[in-house]
Amino acid sequence: MSRDTDKIVAGSNTRCRGWRQEALLRLLENVLAVGERPEDLVVYAALGKAARDWPSYDAIVAALKTMEEDETLIVQSGKPIGILKTHVQAPIVIMANCNLVGHWATAEDFYRLQDRNLICWGGLTAGDWQYIGSQGVIQGTYEIFRRIAERHFRATDLAGRFVLTSGLGGMGGAQPLAGRMAEAAILCVEVDPERVARRIQNGYLQFQAKTLDEALAMIADATAQKRGCSVGLVGNAADIFPQIVQRGIVPDVVTDQTSAHDLVYGYIPAGVSATEIDRLRQHDSDRLMALSRQSIVRHVDAMLAMQRAGAIAFDNGNLIRTQAREAGVADAFDIPIFTEAYLRPLFARAIGPFRWIALSNDEDDIRKIDDYLLETFADNPSVTNWITLARRHVPFEGLPARIAWLGHDERTRVGLAVNAMVREGALSGPVAFTRDHLDAGAMTHPNIMTENMIDGSDAVADWPLLNAMIACSSRADLVAIHSGGGGYAGYMTSAGITIIADGSSEAEARLASSLTNDTSLGVMRYADAGYEDALDEVARTGIRHIRLPRRAA
Ligand code: NAD
Repeated sequence: MSRDTDKIVAGSNTRCRGWRQEALLRLLENVLAVGERPEDLVVYAALGKAARDWPSYDAIVAALKTMEEDETLIVQSGKPIGILKTHVQAPIVIMANCNLVGHWATAEDFYRLQDRNLICWGGLTAGDWQYIGSQGVIQGTYEIFRRIAERHFRATDLAGRFVLTSGLGGMGGAQPLAGRMAEAAILCVEVDPERVARRIQNGYLQFQAKTLDEALAMIADATAQKRGCSVGLVGNAADIFPQIVQRGIVPDVVTDQTSAHDLVYGYIPAGVSATEIDRLRQHDSDRLMALSRQSIVRHVDAMLAMQRAGAIAFDNGNLIRTQAREAGVADAFDIPIFTEAYLRPLFARAIGPFRWIALSNDEDDIRKIDDYLLETFADNPSVTNWITLARRHVPFEGLPARIAWLGHDERTRVGLAVNAMVREGALSGPVAFTRDHLDAGAMTHPNIMTENMIDGSDAVADWPLLNAMIACSSRADLVAIHSGGGGYAGYMTSAGITIIADGSSEAEARLASSLTNDTSLGVMRYADAGYEDALDEVARTGIRHIRLPRRAA
C-alpha cells in the first residue's frame, strides 16, 4: 500500500495565518500527491488539473500562506487573479474553472484556449483540490454493482459473476477493488502497463494476467468458486473487447472507464504507437480524434454485442456512448447511463458521495470517525455495511480520507460531530469536508447526471450556479464553479464546496449552514422536477421547497 506520505505535510503546525488557509493548502498539495501526473499538474480524467501551470501553483501557495482570514483569493481556471478584502465569514477561495460561453464551448475551442494558456480544465475535483484518489469514486462504483446484483440477479452481491471493464486511471482504478468488494470476478483492460502496476502497488488490483487466455482462465476459476477476484490485462479495449465477443464469451456485466470523453489526451486508439500519439497531439489533433473515434466504434460495438447476448451493460460516466453515436453507432444509447439506471432515487433524496479528509495525516482520525458513524447510523445498514467494508478493504491514499453516501441532515450531523471531536481534542487535527460534484444540486450533465430527467430539464444549468451561490452565502471555505474541458466542453456545469472543521464555533456555523443548504437545494432540484422520492424527503424533513402547480406542456 502506498500513501505518498513523504509528500504530505502532517501535524498541527500551520504555515499560514489560520487553519482555513492551511487546510486548503494541504488539500492542494494532496491532490498532486495522489494525482496521476503531478509533474504536469494533472490529477485525473486525462486533463483535470490542480492549477494552470507551475507559476500559478506557486502563486496560489504564496497567496494561501500570506492572506488573512478576512480576505478571499480569486482563481480563474487554475490561475490566481488576486486577493480581495471580504470578511471573516466569506470563503477563503472562490474559483471558476473552464466556463465557456455556450456557442464556444467545444473541444476544439477548449484546446485552442488551452494552447494559449488562457484556460485549463479542473475535472470535477482536481481544480478545486478535493480529489482523494481512487477512493473518491469507489463507493459509487460499489453501489452500482450492488444494485445490479439486486435488480438483475436477485442477489446481494455479484459472487460467481464476470464483470468486464477497461481503464485503470485515477477514477477507473477504483473498479477492480469495488468489483472485488461486491464479490465479482472483474477483468480490467488497461493500455498503459504503468497504470496496472500502480493499482497493484496501491492495493486496488490483485493480479496481472500476461495474456487474454490467462486472464479469462483466472476469471473462469474465480466465478466457478464464487470468489471475488480482480485481474488486470495490458491491452487496448478496442482490440480486447471484440476478441472476447469473437470467442463467444459473454460477461455478466460490461462497462468502461477509459477517458473516452477526451479524444486527444484521454482515449488511446488501438494500433497507434505512443510516439505517434505524441506527434499527433502536437501536430494533427483532428487525425487523432478521428482515430480515437474509429476505436471507440469498435469498443462500443463490442459492448452492444455483449449486451445483445445477455450482458448487463452500462456507461460509467465517461461519454463513451456519446462519442460512439457521433461516430455513427446509432444504437449506442441502448447502453444506459449509471445515474439514471441505478442511482437516481438516491440523488432525489440528496444522498450522494460525501467525503472527509484528515488534515493531520493521522489515519486514526478517520478510524475514530468510522467508529462514530457505525454507532450513530447503527440503524442504517447501507452506511454501516459500507463503513465496515471500506475499513477492511480500501487503502488510504495521500491524506487519510473516507467517502460515504450520506444525505440531507446526515451530512450536517457528521460535520458537526466531527467539529466537536476536533474541539475536544479527540482527533489530532482539523478535518475537511467536501463532496463530489456529481451530487444532487451540484451538476448539470445531460449525458451523465441529468439524462432523461422526468420533467425534461436535463440541460438546465441554473442548478449548479445556484448551488455555488448558496454555498458562498452559507459561508463555505472554498466554492467553485466548473464546466467541462476537452471532450466534456459544452456537456456539463458543476459546483464544488469545501468546509473545514477546525473545532471553532465559527466552523460549527459554517458547517451547519453550508452542509444543510447544499443538500436542501439538491432535494429541491429533484422536487422541482417532480420526483416522488424528493417530494417525500421535503415532507419528511421540512425543507422549505415552494411547490407551484405544474403548467401543462
Ligand atoms: P484517467 O485519464 O486517469 O485514466 C484513464 C485510463 O484509461 C488511463 O489509464 C488510460 O491509459 C486508459 N485508456 C485510455 N484508452 C484506453 C483504451 N482504448 N483501452 C484501454 N485503456 C485505455 O481517467 P479517470 O480519472 O480514470 O477517469 C476515467 C473516465 O471516467 C473519465 O472520462 C472521467 O471523466 C470519468 N469519470 C466518471 C466518474 C463517475 O462517477 N462514474 C467519476 C469521475 C470520472
